[in-house]
Amino acid sequence: MNRGKALIKEFLAALLVLTGVARATRAWLWRDRVAILLYHDPDPATLDRHLTYLRKLCDFVPLTDVAAPGRGRARAAITFDDGHKGNAKLLPIFIKHKVRPTIFLCSSIVGRARSHWWLHPGSLEAGHERLKRMRNAERLTELAAHGYHQEADNFATGLSIEQIDVMSAHVDFQAHTRFHPVLTRCSDSECADEIGRSKHEIEALLHCACEHFAYPNGNYGDREIGFAKAAGYKSARTCDVGWSDHRSDPYRLPAIIIDDSASTRQFAAQLTGIPLFLHYLKKGGGWRGRFPQF
Ligand SMILES: [Zn+2]
Repeated sequence: MNRGKALIKEFLAALLVLTGVARATRAWLWRDRVAILLYHDPDPATLDRHLTYLRKLCDFVPLTDVAAPGRGRARAAITFDDGHKGNAKLLPIFIKHKVRPTIFLCSSIVGRARSHWWLHPGSLEAGHERLKRMRNAERLTELAAHGYHQEADNFATGLSIEQIDVMSAHVDFQAHTRFHPVLTRCSDSECADEIGRSKHEIEALLHCACEHFAYPNGNYGDREIGFAKAAGYKSARTCDVGWSDHRSDPYRLPAIIIDDSASTRQFAAQLTGIPLFLHYLKKGGGWRGRFPQF
């Protein structure tokens, strides 16, 4: 991000915090519901600052408690998508803040010398946003032309089996497909396979039930919800903006996406959901805070 853009971001964050909008949002929207925060690969110092700030505002709950009744205090569940190898460095922060996060793993990437497709140099060359919008088979063909084969072992960008083992006492590992395609760009059989086999692979890896799912890139529709239900998941997290409680549809759980490198003030602003809501609105997501689907 260039310096001008960063300054504007910081200024807008200050506006939300200093004018009391952040506080009002907590009182009117968050209330005692659960904010499911979505990170990817933050560094430990940043996450430590965020959680130090957050614990003054709310209780930390595991994702599995989303449907439990609130007790008048705001709640937050911390989630991470993809299973980046950098997540292993966060373990001391989880322990320090007594938080049990959920990490949604790409089950055929972690534990092997494989890379998430968008982290491969070939994907950078081809252009991420363009690739995301392609039909899955075409995307894989294009990536192959740039040297990326999803089943080829090359270099690891995900957590190793040893790291997952060490973390599993403090972290809830769940499913995020096998290879992270955009599900809405997959055929029926690709979609069912990515959702269903991911569950089995996580269960084989962790030796315990895998019951929760997160849609890659936030793309989902009725078909994806149907496959998630048929596979036996109890819930699925989206990238739609919002807070959850016992009335929430468990297969459309909303989230608040947090920038991995947000300053504490930007973090406070992002907790309002407003920056994400405006971002989606600009991209055609509509007034209900829905991730702009394609
Ligand atoms: Zn993801």
